[in-house]
Amino acid sequence: MDNLWMENNIIVNLLQVAFYEILNGLWVRNGLQIKGQAMTYIQCNFCNSMVDADLYLLQICSTRIAAYNFLNTVIEKFHVKEWMSLAPYQAPQNAYLEGEHDTPMLESFLTFLATLISVRTNLGLSETALNRLEMVTLLCMGDKTHSQLMELMPERCGTSQSRDFESLLAEVADYRAPALEASGNMQQGMYVPKPLIWEKQYDPIHVLLRAVHRRDFQTSMDRYTEYARQANKLKAGVSPWPPFRTPTDCAEAYEDPRQILKSRVFHAAALIILYKAVKGHVSEHVMALVIFLLEQAVIISQQEDNKNTKMCSTTSQTQNQLNDMDLTNWFSVDSLFDNLRTVVGRVILTPEPDFSPITYSSDSDLEWENSEVDTEMADITIDDTKMLTLGEGSSTWNSNQPQSSGTDLMVFRGDQQNQDSPAMESTPTSSVLALPSTTNLPMEVERIMSVALPAYISVNHHASSSAEPPALPPPAQLPAITAGNEVSRAVIWSQPGTSRKELVPTTSQNHRKSYPYRRRQTVDRPNANPPSVKVNESIISLLLRLHSQLSGIPDSYNPDDEEEANTSAADQAPIGDGAYYVEKLLRKISMADTTCKNCIKETRMKLWPSQEERDEAQKQRENMEREERRRRAKERQQKLMAEFANKQKQFMEKAMEIDENSEGMEEEVLVTKEEYDCVICNQSTPSTEEKPMGLVVLIQATSVIGHRRRYGQPERSTLPTCEEEREFLRRDDTLAAEFDRRVEELDRHFDPQSWFLSVNLGWDGGVHVQTCGHHLHLDCLNSYLQSLRSQQRQPALSPEKGEYLCPLCRQLANSVLPLSPQLGDKTQMVRSKPNESMSQILEELSNFLRENDQKPSTSNMAEAIGKVMEDMSSSTQLKPMFKPKSEKPIPQSLFLFVTSIARTNLEVELIQRGGSLVVSCIEPPNPLLPKRDCIVPLLHVLAVHARVARVLAMWPAWMTFQQLCGLPAKVPITALAPIEREVPLLLRDPIALLLQFVLLLPLHLDQTYFTTTVQMVYNLLYYQVIAQVSCGLTSAERMRAASSATKGRITNLCDSLDFINECLGQTDLYMEDDSLSSEKTQINILALEQQVQKLCLPFLRIASLLKYHLYQQPLPDIRTSQSEFVRLVYYLELVTESMDWGCFNASVALNWPSDTNMFIDSPRTWCSQFASFVSKSQIAARSFLVDQHIVWHPPRLLQLPREYEKIFTYYHERPCSQCHSVPQETSICLLCGTIVCLKQNCCKQQNVCEAVAHAAECGAGTGVFLVVTSTYIIVIRGHRACLWGSLYLDDFEEEDRDLKRGKPLYLSRDRYQLLEQQWLAHRFDHTKKTWVHHRNAL
Ligand SMILES: [Zn+2]
Ligand SMILES: [Zn+2]
Ligand SMILES: [Zn+2]
Ligand SMILES: [Zn+2]
Ligand SMILES: [Zn+2]
Repeated sequence: MDNLWMENNIIVNLLQVAFYEILNGLWVRNGLQIKGQAMTYIQCNFCNSMVDADLYLLQICSTRIAAYNFLNTVIEKFHVKEWMSLAPYQAPQNAYLEGEHDTPMLESFLTFLATLISVRTNLGLSETALNRLEMVTLLCMGDKTHSQLMELMPERCGTSQSRDFESLLAEVADYRAPALEASGNMQQGMYVPKPLIWEKQYDPIHVLLRAVHRRDFQTSMDRYTEYARQANKLKAGVSPWPPFRTPTDCAEAYEDPRQILKSRVFHAAALIILYKAVKGHVSEHVMALVIFLLEQAVIISQQEDNKNTKMCSTTSQTQNQLNDMDLTNWFSVDSLFDNLRTVVGRVILTPEPDFSPITYSSDSDLEWENSEVDTEMADITIDDTKMLTLGEGSSTWNSNQPQSSGTDLMVFRGDQQNQDSPAMESTPTSSVLALPSTTNLPMEVERIMSVALPAYISVNHHASSSAEPPALPPPAQLPAITAGNEVSRAVIWSQPGTSRKELVPTTSQNHRKSYPYRRRQTVDRPNANPPSVKVNESIISLLLRLHSQLSGIPDSYNPDDEEEANTSAADQAPIGDGAYYVEKLLRKISMADTTCKNCIKETRMKLWPSQEERDEAQKQRENMEREERRRRAKERQQKLMAEFANKQKQFMEKAMEIDENSEGMEEEVLVTKEEYDCVICNQSTPSTEEKPMGLVVLIQATSVIGHRRRYGQPERSTLPTCEEEREFLRRDDTLAAEFDRRVEELDRHFDPQSWFLSVNLGWDGGVHVQTCGHHLHLDCLNSYLQSLRSQQRQPALSPEKGEYLCPLCRQLANSVLPLSPQLGDKTQMVRSKPNESMSQILEELSNFLRENDQKPSTSNMAEAIGKVMEDMSSSTQLKPMFKPKSEKPIPQSLFLFVTSIARTNLEVELIQRGGSLVVSCIEPPNPLLPKRDCIVPLLHVLAVHARVARVLAMWPAWMTFQQLCGLPAKVPITALAPIEREVPLLLRDPIALLLQFVLLLPLHLDQTYFTTTVQMVYNLLYYQVIAQVSCGLTSAERMRAASSATKGRITNLCDSLDFINECLGQTDLYMEDDSLSSEKTQINILALEQQVQKLCLPFLRIASLLKYHLYQQPLPDIRTSQSEFVRLVYYLELVTESMDWGCFNASVALNWPSDTNMFIDSPRTWCSQFASFVSKSQIAARSFLVDQHIVWHPPRLLQLPREYEKIFTYYHERPCSQCHSVPQETSICLLCGTIVCLKQNCCKQQNVCEAVAHAAECGAGTGVFLVVTSTYIIVIRGHRACLWGSLYLDDFEEEDRDLKRGKPLYLSRDRYQLLEQQWLAHRFDHTKKTWVHHRNAL
């Protein structure tokens, strides 16, 4: 066994100690590599073969060889022997123990002991229990994903960990599903330890064993503390000690390694550490470890006592001579309970074996600093009468040398030793050659000879009553790992002058300040006797002192409430601070041994003798409790106040929001100009021509609307994952594709001067403007931008493109929308005269259109309005044909562009509202809808440009209006440039017409004018829809419908169908169908009526949004899609009187000037205009009409399959359709399904890689690509790109980037929805992702 021990000795040396040394930074010079090796040593994958195996071997050793032998060796290997000295000064001869390193090594030594005695990995712990422990340990260090747990669980040969993995996981952890944040932060599914784990199973020792980094342990303690606080298991402000766990019993084949704690060597070491702890030289973590070890010693000794009959309890041996660092001989027995009571009196210090005769100038600063530290360490007395110590010439003295110098040398047995022992000069680093000598020495020898200490050595008794603060840093500042309680502790320790005076009664009268003692001085006088330190403490007395110190009250331990505490503590998991654990230990001692119990009582009386003092203690205890109660009450109060403040803040915010909203409504009362707060200079001013204010806006191109698909298909197209689906995915059924075809046709049949004014564009590459709602002076913004350009702080920001972050909310912006001075100024409102007839209003509207031209201006406001228009133009991604070309620009294109911006933004808002104005009462408020919009300021800016463009185009908008209404033309047509091929009114887009009129009319018209305009456009829309619907009917069906019509009136669908049939029935519009009129022909008028209403809805929605924004009329509360039409026509005042539901149909919303024949004449004019086009181009006319109004689905991303495997299988080897090679990183556009060669040169054109080019083409600069090989989504937004995350997660809602783990992955509905929402809401730029400039290289 001894041979084996020798070998293991080396193992200890090489592995365990080295490991702790490295962690403590002793091997710094070896660089980082050595640290890496230490990490490998404990890493989970290797721990089975490395650290655990070593530990097992050591545990076996510890039980097979003499405990004192084992312990002494360990103490030396950890280089803590020197630390165990009570001498005030520690010679620097031991290179390991310089300054800061001694506490960490001591801590490591105790950690090692605690690990040794409590780990049961190979000592009979069941496999399940072991796996549970490992899992708990991992979870306590941090929440983990399923795969992290799988990966980090230590592997053991021959065990099937997966068998009980899931059941254990369910037992110890709760699953926390990933939450999605609006900012775009995405979490993965996590496992978090159950509350019970923290109470019962969190094992700090095992965490320390497995923690790769020290901070992992710290984290686990922080988490434990947090749990304890939240669960109210801890008094507020108190930091818990690590809850070290009592180990289970070993398997029968093994002896309990705790046996080593029954050694007197350990007892002596514990006493020394406690002694230093009371002096304040030890971190709380070290205290916690010692208390734990002592507790285990009590438990194991108790077990032993129960087995054996009690040995004769030896009485105290205080008279024995004790030598410093000679731990083996401080106690004469191994009985714990005896040793707990044993009072250690005086300890003889060992002269320093350094022979160099150096004299010190004692007043050197350095010396003073050191000495203060040193003398603080112990009470050194010069007792010239009784104290004896070993003389230098004595042989026993010499034989003692090797140990005290802390070196490992061959044993020289006492008798043969001569004075100049080579041991004294040998280097302390010499390798381990043999067993330490101590154990072989007969104890008596050492005790015989003691020599009185000569008086001339001036030893400073640095009494604790000294006014000088101790130079030693309080233990809180030591590199301890005491769970972050440093701050609270430091408070206690920082007042040693007061508290310690009471706690450590001084026994010496010698208070004089004298020169610090230097052991080296003995060198000059070979006969000098070593000094001594008076300890006069037992472990019990030290524990009592420590308890008092930790709780901050003298005589704080109260053994009387023992019983009640015991009953409650039995079933409760231990959670508490230092005082709690010391108390627990003391109670355990009292329970286990009555002699000790009595000793505790006696010691208390001795330490705090006077009744007065005890009363004082009692009072203080009560005070503390009262204080604690008061503090808790205060805390509650503060919490309440904070809550209240928070609520108030929310209320204020809400109120402000309401204020801002209601400002518009109260405008009629307020005559003063509206003021805005500038977020840069904080001043509130109105926006004026000279000093304009603006809204912070982000302008971007959008193709979201263009991705609407035709109604009738499944709402979502599917990303094909087989050939069949590939056939099915159509690219031509989107609004963008439809519009392209339409434009081509329009251009073929009509003059651009006309058709440019008949449509809107911007479905594909339109301009979207959004705001965060913050205002600023344009001047202020300019200086802000200037400073941004010079600073260039945000790497992803491009100030040269005008980009900046809103100074207030930090949202991305790239322009500013000037606020017209007329905004909110109701004095400029154009009011209608009361009781005007409709004809008069139409007349006035016509005049407004003719007269309301933009007056040229050079004000700052005009400049700003020009600037934002420039920003909008440069941001578009419109097809070249609409962009003003240098060679052949037509003024109409500018007008088209301007009105289309209004259209795009209204349509986008509609999409963000879910595609209709129906508000679901079940679903939460739409997350897509921005909190603040800028439609009205935008319309003001657009109106200025529209008027300018109208003049440039020389377009008589008022004439179009007159045509629309059927008013007689007042100005001879000959005065105008004739348009040869004009688009008939029946083929013009009614929404485009409405927007044109709204932008050309004064924006502050009375609502009556707006309503009338909407009514006029609705009339046209209605007949367009009727004509379109009639094209879907056979002539027989048309005849059938007409047969039930009332002539001369338009009151229902049959009437209007009859009217259209009358006007157009004779043309070639209707393809001759052979089916003759038969009796059996049936027609479902109800279904047709519904279709008519459905086709009218898009116009009604946009008109309603306009009214809502321009006049701040709250939108109707529409709950079902069936009621949308009727609610909107009432909202728009197309119908004002109530009527029977049975009479209601789309035609009742028609409005014509009364007492005129316009209700027949106007539609007839439109029809004849169209009929002449039919006669020219029959097929085109019909196809225009048939596809005039289309119902679209809201835009959607492509539907993805549930299993990722389907995507991978189908796409990972699919060639790109452009270069026909298989891309390295195949990526699929989720808007259209196109495969692109991400980052590859093969498909690079004009230095732009394929994904970037496709994003521009397909999404107007916004691209959403699925990278097949990595499962990740890449989002391209303009000149930036980001890695968005994965839509596919495994069973535990974790990502598997690059498919490294190869788990089956399933579509995450939440993430998919989030991605789509961000796309639809144009919010990619506002997500908290890492955006980088892609430089066209994706
Ligand atoms: Zn300002
Ligand atoms: Zn802002
Ligand atoms: Zn695409
Ligand atoms: Zn390609
Ligand atoms: Zn390619």
